Amino acid sequence: MSAGYPWPGGHRAGLCVTFDFDGESPLLWRRRDDPPGDAAELEQRRYGPRRGVHHILDTLDRTGVRATFYVPGWIAHTYRRAVAEVHAAGHELALHGWCHEPPADLAPDELRATLTRASDLLAEISGVRPAGYRSPSFRMSPEGFEVLAELGLSYDSSLMGDDRPYRIGDLVEIPVDWATDDAVYYRYTGGGESHPPYGAPSLYDAWHAELAGAREAGTLVDLTMHPWQSGRPARALRLRQLLDDAKDFGDLWIGTAGELAAHHRDTATDAPGTLDLPTRTLGWPL
Ligand SMILES: [Zn+2]
Repeated sequence: MSAGYPWPGGHRAGLCVTFDFDGESPLLWRRRDDPPGDAAELEQRRYGPRRGVHHILDTLDRTGVRATFYVPGWIAHTYRRAVAEVHAAGHELALHGWCHEPPADLAPDELRATLTRASDLLAEISGVRPAGYRSPSFRMSPEGFEVLAELGLSYDSSLMGDDRPYRIGDLVEIPVDWATDDAVYYRYTGGGESHPPYGAPSLYDAWHAELAGAREAGTLVDLTMHPWQSGRPARALRLRQLLDDAKDFGDLWIGTAGELAAHHRDTATDAPGTLDLPTRTLGWPL
């Protein structure tokens, strides 16, 4: 089945280029009860909306690739001009919480309220209501899916249960993978990480291998990047080379997550899955 996924235009495999444009919002959420007295990581993360996103937009413009940007509402509120520039450049805006709250940390009513507020703001900035969501830190709950469906979203992009688009209830899932998340390579805040950040050539080589594997198996590569990490000039330059290579292959469909979700909804025949969590009375093998 994997070699037979019906990629748009008869392509052999798929590539989505996505950015979690979250700046300092993850730190603000994580330290909400204990605000940091140190400006170091805040400023490191503010590089994303301040500078990194512009290097990224330049990279995408040079390659002609349209991407999906998952934007917390707080970021859209605080860096409104940068978010408007992302939209004006032809990229998709999608939801990523109000201030990077993982669904499992919120009651369903709180999740609904934060996403409604974020959706209203992104729609006000772009004139387009977001169709998709990515959960902060790839942490998702079954109740979160119910809220996404209630809000009328068409897709989620948070989970790793397949390497092609699939369905969870009424939503299309555009799957992610830690191996194609730049944070695994680049995230380094001087806060006790066990290893220094990998260089841009290491990520370039690793992601070339991901593209080769996908082209062999007919699967999706969903690149997940953060402007405060991948927006540094040497990294943006390697990303440009990777995207140029991906285009030169000629057999990769390249588009936004929203476009792929719409395609899957129109063409796929897979049955809707569920997101049951195991419990000690049902399915937990202990
Ligand atoms: Zn994030």
